Amino acid sequence: MTKFYEEENANVHRGIYTLSEKATMAYEAARETVAQFIGAAAEEIIFTKGTTESINLLAQSLGKTLQPGDEVVLSEMEHHANLVPWQELAKEKKAVLKFIPLTSDFQLDMEKAQQLITRTTKIVSVVHMSNVLGTINPVTELAALAHQVGAVCIVDAAQSVPHMPINVRKLGCDFLAFSGHKMLGPMGIGVLYGTKKLLETLSPFQYGGGMIQEVTYEKSTWNEVPWKFEAGTPHVAGAIGLAAAIDYLQGIGMDQIQEHDQELTTYALEHLSQLPGITIIGPRTNRGAVISFTLSGIHPHDLSEVLDRERIAIRAGHHCAMPLHTKLGLVGTNRVSLYLYNTIEDIDRLIAGIRNAQRIFR
Ligand code: PLP
Repeated sequence: MTKFYEEENANVHRGIYTLSEKATMAYEAARETVAQFIGAAAEEIIFTKGTTESINLLAQSLGKTLQPGDEVVLSEMEHHANLVPWQELAKEKKAVLKFIPLTSDFQLDMEKAQQLITRTTKIVSVVHMSNVLGTINPVTELAALAHQVGAVCIVDAAQSVPHMPINVRKLGCDFLAFSGHKMLGPMGIGVLYGTKKLLETLSPFQYGGGMIQEVTYEKSTWNEVPWKFEAGTPHVAGAIGLAAAIDYLQGIGMDQIQEHDQELTTYALEHLSQLPGITIIGPRTNRGAVISFTLSGIHPHDLSEVLDRERIAIRAGHHCAMPLHTKLGLVGTNRVSLYLYNTIEDIDRLIAGIRNAQRIFR
């Protein structure tokens, strides 16, 4: 990103001068990197601000095709980013939202999913890995259920793309969204993947420069995909930074990252569950490296505050999944999220920190 700003800083797709051509090449090379990372073609990669904007893009563009009474199927464990845009769309279009419930082991109830996804369903949009429970959802199965009834399947992959190898063709989804800042990349850049066939049928999300083919005072026609969806000056340095993060992650290997995650998660679950008064909010198996829990007698904010004094950063609250917490009868939880830079020693320090907090609040 520094190199870009120092040596190639110009707007893309406009200038005929060398600097702009260099910037365009770097930006489009970043798109290629993202595409190969998830097994897509470059024209299927739209750069956005992040997962939230990617889903809003779909709610607006795909949303235009909905008729009153059409159904959008989500799950009970969605992040607000994959809930609120659909609520707004449902209000506007008189569509109906349905939610796949959870089993007692915090997995999606796939029998219920089968019953909920019907000919009236037009969109199935689910989180791949829950940012609260850590549950990894069977998105391939959900995509198949959606396709059986002619619906499209959207995957919120904000938590999964950073932590495991992802191939969109294998997943079989139509759209997939993720964010750069959760995978060692910069903030303010993210991705929407969509199959070329579907992207070509969708209306643009925003209008202005860069996304047009021909403009008269009366009307305009649209650029090809993916540029049709990238109105205005894009976050060029962000895209370049995201590609650098992907190169770095791939240098380590996504399989290795997933293995490391699993090792840390198993260790953390084993040791956390031995703490008195702890309840782990999430499944034992089929899960990733975010672990939410409550401790009896200690408010999540208090625990987080005490741990922060020991320079241990964990989240406290509803983690942008308020309905899920309400459903589980919780005001909030603490959440540990582990990644490739964490070690077993970090977890030992965390456990010692929690024991210390338990002594303070006894
Ligand atoms: N979806 C999930 C599962 C998330 O964990 C997050 C971020 O916390 C988002 C969506 C929203 O991502 P962003 O804020 O980068 O748009």
